[in-house]
Amino acid sequence: MAVLTCRGLRKEFGGQPVLDGLDLSVDEHQVVALIGASGSGKSTLLRCVNLLEELDDGTIELDGEEISDPRVDPDLVRRRIGMVFQSYNLFPHLTVLENVTLAPRRVHRRSRADAEAQARDLLDRVGLGAKADAYPDRLSGGQQQRVAIVRALANQPRLMLLDEVTSALDPELVGEVLAMIRDLKADGMTMVLATHEMGFAREVADQVCFLDSGRVVEAGPPGQVLGEPTQPRTRQFLRRII
Ligand code: ADP
Ligand code: MG
Repeated sequence: MAVLTCRGLRKEFGGQPVLDGLDLSVDEHQVVALIGASGSGKSTLLRCVNLLEELDDGTIELDGEEISDPRVDPDLVRRRIGMVFQSYNLFPHLTVLENVTLAPRRVHRRSRADAEAQARDLLDRVGLGAKADAYPDRLSGGQQQRVAIVRALANQPRLMLLDEVTSALDPELVGEVLAMIRDLKADGMTMVLATHEMGFAREVADQVCFLDSGRVVEAGPPGQVLGEPTQPRTRQFLRRII
């Protein structure tokens, strides 16, 4: 069953198409990796799915519900989707525990005790239990990004959107974040991730989509798209980056 279905997405900035008739379907428990040159539309696509951008055309369905319908409340949709950005955006004046429990308490109206118990459990599972009461500036970039992922998970999302979540990290810190994503996949989380990590995309993705000028030019299993691409533009992109 498809968790996410995008049909004919079109988004322009200043008259320039950034998404140009983009189609994408993501099944339950699937991990889809978006690859493509800088400016190809990966972030815009993820932002559109999370209703942070208004579409110029096309439809987005989450679990069969058309969330791109203007009558749908974006806040209700965002509660079902976890999004993590390149810059982890933790609240600097809140502890790790407060960062993670903020949305469950404020948005989902969970009790403090309940939200904290769940947050501590999630933090323990990713080896950050001891950091619960620390402020973000006491954590490494990798730890902060793992907290940002935990914060997104605390809403028990149906779908996770990860936008270049390792791009801002020092190379030695990338591994711990990728390991966490690997564990999420093992737990069956449905994910769409924009990434420059081709080795990781190959390992973790069920489907790789190559974006060029706001379209999915080539999509398929990683071995095919990364190993035996059929489209000249995919080949050109891969030659440049590998
Ligand atoms: P990617 O994530 O693949 O690098 P983006 O989705 O960030 O690509 O950007 C695609 C194009 O859209 C780029 O040319 C970018 O400059 C443009 N763009 C993105 N957001 C905006 C915006 N808010 N206003 C104007 N142009 C934008
Ligand atoms: Mg981007």
